Amino acid sequence: MANAIVVEPDVSFIKEVGKLGGGDLKKCFQCATCSVVCPISPDNKPFPRKEMIAASWGLKDRLVADYDVWLCHNCGDCSTLCPRGARPGDVLTAIRAYAVREYATPKALSKAIADPKMLPILLAIPAIIFIGLGLVLKAFGLNWINFSPHGDEIWQAHFISNYLVDIIMIPTFFGAVGVFALGLKRFLADIHASALAEGKTTEGKIDPIGIIKALVTVVLTIIKHSKFDECSENKDRSTAHMLVLFSFIGLFIVTNCFFVAEWLLHIEGPYSQLNPVKWLGNVAGVALIIGALLLLKNRLSKKDQESSYWDWYLIGLVLALGVTGMGTEITRLAGLAAVSNVIYFLHLMFVWSLFAYTPFSKLAHIVYRTTALVYAEYTNRQ
Ligand code: SF4
Ligand code: SF4
Repeated sequence: MANAIVVEPDVSFIKEVGKLGGGDLKKCFQCATCSVVCPISPDNKPFPRKEMIAASWGLKDRLVADYDVWLCHNCGDCSTLCPRGARPGDVLTAIRAYAVREYATPKALSKAIADPKMLPILLAIPAIIFIGLGLVLKAFGLNWINFSPHGDEIWQAHFISNYLVDIIMIPTFFGAVGVFALGLKRFLADIHASALAEGKTTEGKIDPIGIIKALVTVVLTIIKHSKFDECSENKDRSTAHMLVLFSFIGLFIVTNCFFVAEWLLHIEGPYSQLNPVKWLGNVAGVALIIGALLLLKNRLSKKDQESSYWDWYLIGLVLALGVTGMGTEITRLAGLAAVSNVIYFLHLMFVWSLFAYTPFSKLAHIVYRTTALVYAEYTNRQ
């Protein structure tokens, strides 16, 4: 008699997937239409049907280590054509959300970020840090926060010094990098072990050179957004996604340029509107708002697609970043000092939230999906 295989379903995982938008999972009757219609699923061990089986059995460990889950970019074609309305695309999105929480530490923060009731507290944390640290330093003679700033021109650094901003933002940024590094180490080890077990690769050890070569190919694919063109249902998401991605890249470049200007070249802001770096910042800021609004429009118009708090949180944060960033500049140029400072303070809260909470939120897909795509390229999973 063949050896019996013991399946130990994780019921709490099934419930969580339901809460994260995969509530129709149990409707699946395994017809495999989804795997056939998916424009990017490979012939060898295609997805998402096998993920639907594993999810309905509650095989959490298998699914969080399944890099196929990350190859899906939620085009929605499979959900539209599923004869049972099981929404496999939404189930994969829910599994990705679960996986991000599984790989990020501390777990308590993961849970808090997934809970809408915790949002006011999460947004209050950076406000407490900025005001609290500012006041502590003030007591030691460092006037890095000034609630009634005055100067010969309106400039946010008179309100909150760039020193205070940097000593808070830089450790937060590198803290997030550390959380990602720990999560990615486990993720990569798990997907490799899973790929070996499933016969998707035969290499015992990962070759770093091969991974770097795969990374170059994948980065080019991401920049071109060519995978979106393979969708038929959600093709229009490509523009919004591209705008947001390139805006973040542009704003990252601008932040670093001004950091160098201030700390290495000792050129103080505010910088001229004719400065090309400023131009890049303005274009990226406007593109971020347009991209966020398009993402919002897309979500609201897709009635057949499940949207959870996981999706709304990201869209809300991106929009808030763009609006407060551009709002700070416009009100400063208009001479509205008090309004500009309030908007600037909100902007700092959102930037801090972006850094601190990204490893636990949907935005973490930038890192996990890229890793999965690189691994798929590396193992030649076409
Ligand atoms: S999710 Fe839908 S299309 Fe896919 S196997 Fe199940 S019933 Fe068929
Ligand atoms: S949502 Fe699109 S990419 Fe994802 S599994 Fe379904 S058809 Fe494939």
